[in-house]
Amino acid sequence: MKIKVDFDLCESNALCEALAPQNFEIDDDDFLQIIEENVTDENRDAVAQAIAACPKSAISLVED
Ligand code: SF4
Repeated sequence: MKIKVDFDLCESNALCEALAPQNFEIDDDDFLQIIEENVTDENRDAVAQAIAACPKSAISLVED
């Protein structure tokens, strides 16, 4: 699975970065970047928490 973000919905509030910093990062221009799009056994739980926490429901998972 891969992470997908609807950047039209995202408000770059960094909640996902706080929960899954290995996957999400707010850049110097305050825009969200997906720094690791692949969901692995190691980051699966953190990514799930980020998806649940996103107030804009902007994060989803897509098949590889
Ligand atoms: S939690 Fe949602 S709204 Fe916030 S930066 Fe991440 S994707 Fe964007």
